[in-house]
Amino acid sequence: MRNDKIIFIGKPNAGKGTLQKSFLEGRSEEFELLSVGDLLRKARKEQTELGKKAAAYMDAGILVPDELICGLAIPALQSATKPIISDGFPRNVYQAKAMLDAGISPIVIEFYVDDNVARERALNRLICEKCGETYTLNQFHPPLVEGICDKCGSPLGKRSDDNSEVVERRLKEYQEKTLPVINFLACNNIEVHTIDTSSSNAADQLIKLLID
Ligand code: AMP
Repeated sequence: MRNDKIIFIGKPNAGKGTLQKSFLEGRSEEFELLSVGDLLRKARKEQTELGKKAAAYMDAGILVPDELICGLAIPALQSATKPIISDGFPRNVYQAKAMLDAGISPIVIEFYVDDNVARERALNRLICEKCGETYTLNQFHPPLVEGICDKCGSPLGKRSDDNSEVVERRLKEYQEKTLPVINFLACNNIEVHTIDTSSSNAADQLIKLLID
């Protein structure tokens, strides 16, 4: 293990969630996972204060305010007792600086995909309303029974932010706010690697980077 704090960065629908799941298969005991997006979706479902505050930002496809996010993510990264993968934090330079200031010095994996592929994936995505498992409407990873989660049998639906208007805004947010994080961290001596997720050996590349 090269570093026990691992940051996954990628534009919406770059495929980082899928690669993260395949990486953790058989390794879930060895790693912790911090997915800020999943925590926010859970908070919304449970109607917590955080969930209520985050909802409008998420539906608009823009970033939730930094103080809410940093208060959630930084303690989780600091208190991890195993190597931890952070999926979706930091997402702007303010958050990245707060992370470095908190003494967290991670390895970063950037998941790259072309914008048009990202758009198509977003519009084809289904998500389980109960367990969060994701599927596609196309041949890539459809559910065994239409509209039903293979894992828990609950109904599948669309994510509220997977419509073309919001997808465009999220891509723009990524370009303007998240992409500069990569440069910022690299300039602060953080190791950054890029994986092209449309490459057939993307999963092997990830294993090589994190385990070998
Ligand atoms: P995701 O599931 O990672 O695509 O995140 C869904 C939404 O949650 C984003 O569009 C943002 O509104 C919000 N979100 C997730 N991570 C962050 C973050 N690090 N900073 C601010 N907002 C976030």
